Amino acid sequence: MEYYGEIACQGLAMGKIAVLQKQENFINKQKTTDVNTEIIRLQNALEKSKKELIELTKRAKNTIGDTSASIFEAHQMILEDEEFVAAIYDRISSKMTTAEYAVFQMGEEIYHKFLSMDDSYFQARAEDVKDVVYRLLQNLKMKPIKSPLYEELVILVAEELTPSEMMQIDQKNILAFVIRKGDINSHTAILARMMNLPALVNVPFHYSEISTGMSAIVDAVQGKVIFEPSKEMCIEMESKIHKQTIKQQELHDLKGKKTVTKTGRKIAIYANISSEDEVAAALENDAEGIGLFRSEFLYMGRMSFPTEEEQFQVYKNILQQMGEKQVTIRTLDIGSDKKEEYFELKDEENPALGCRGIRFCLEKPEIFKIQLRALLRASVYGNLEILYPMITAEEEIDEIHKILEEVVCELKEEAIPYKIPKQGVMIETPAAVIISDILANKVDFFSIGTNDLTQYTLAVDRQNSKYTSRYNGYHPAILRMIRHVVKEAHKKGKPVGICGDLAGDIELTEQFLNIGIDVLSVVPSMVLKLRKRVRDMA
Ligand code: PEP
Ligand code: MG
Repeated sequence: MEYYGEIACQGLAMGKIAVLQKQENFINKQKTTDVNTEIIRLQNALEKSKKELIELTKRAKNTIGDTSASIFEAHQMILEDEEFVAAIYDRISSKMTTAEYAVFQMGEEIYHKFLSMDDSYFQARAEDVKDVVYRLLQNLKMKPIKSPLYEELVILVAEELTPSEMMQIDQKNILAFVIRKGDINSHTAILARMMNLPALVNVPFHYSEISTGMSAIVDAVQGKVIFEPSKEMCIEMESKIHKQTIKQQELHDLKGKKTVTKTGRKIAIYANISSEDEVAAALENDAEGIGLFRSEFLYMGRMSFPTEEEQFQVYKNILQQMGEKQVTIRTLDIGSDKKEEYFELKDEENPALGCRGIRFCLEKPEIFKIQLRALLRASVYGNLEILYPMITAEEEIDEIHKILEEVVCELKEEAIPYKIPKQGVMIETPAAVIISDILANKVDFFSIGTNDLTQYTLAVDRQNSKYTSRYNGYHPAILRMIRHVVKEAHKKGKPVGICGDLAGDIELTEQFLNIGIDVLSVVPSMVLKLRKRVRDMA
């Protein structure tokens, strides 16, 4: 069985698959020391779920009729089943586990019990149990953790994965991703590239044809996955993987060498990272700095905002590991596809045009200040630059500066050591491009975010897989914009980098060098490939 998809991250892999069924939730074992809180959380989730189901039954009766509405009545009955509910409470108190884990375990047990029954009526009820468990987990305000509970390395096959779910996956266990939905420009795809794991999205496989434990080949060079490959195919893939390893060795020989053309033209190659753990990959690939730390991922896959101390430790650690090398930390850029319940973002018609990036921070200065305090404190320990996302107006920079001044005053008063780092803005909206001459007066550097710049300039949702071909970084409008920004910034003596995914496009490296781009910041695995490209140039 062979399926084609879009390549979110190039690479080859071969191994067993782990299939996450649609809506399947794996909850890792979680212990608690606070049984009472877990019991109250469960009570609330049960109440909320029951109310939802009563509403759903009513709505279904009015719209799709009694027979369909009875499905939701059956779901209510499961929630009212005394034995089922008592068993969950019992698990929390006797095994000291979180409510989520108790619900998940109980759900799994009953699901499999129903499934194994001979009577087809009961077999069908298994799906109902799953649905009820899913609702309960959602109402426990905890995003279900889709995490494969496998000890061995697996190719993860899923319907879709949100950035938040990606962050909870232990990448050490993953060989590759095969995702039925998704788009190559989504943050999920970016995370796969960050992890440097072969990834295919938009793969139209059928769940009925695959199951966990089956073997597969992921050829994310040609864009295909083969389930149950033949012996010959496996031998061929083994040899391809071997050749790939040799190529990688050649690249590794470029470590410690300069990124300079044959005629002496230079460009710096930095790495993009999204977690503290990826600093190792940046160093391993000899990145000349960190051009983008997407700090928002520190805020994801959790249930409350990280504290100042927590953030300070992470930033300090990254700076210390990078030594004298530059580290650019972007302030919280949430909204659109990057969200968590606790951010309490209101539902918006067009979230990509709503409360995103700097807008969120300026609307919630108390949260922004915590991050700025942590950054200024950490700045003492290395070569930090702060980068502000989603800028559209010079007044936003004035507002940021005002908040920063308040933070400086507070730190001074409290006699806490700090250093004010260089500050730059992301150029990722057409407005920022057009006023780049004005912005250049107010900041120390620019970093062009081509992912969003492409989406906002071409009016194409970066997540909409239907329009992937229209989401085109090669569009003359984008290249002209980049050229314009560099011209305006250089007039004022300010450097310009590109940190969007276009920076890693080997076909454009020469053009970027000719335009005068100072820094290209790419996923760690691309650093040496770009260095090779530059060193091969005249
Ligand atoms: C960009 O928009 O190009 C960028 C680097 O930011 P993100 O992909 O995180 O939105
Ligand atoms: Mg962006």
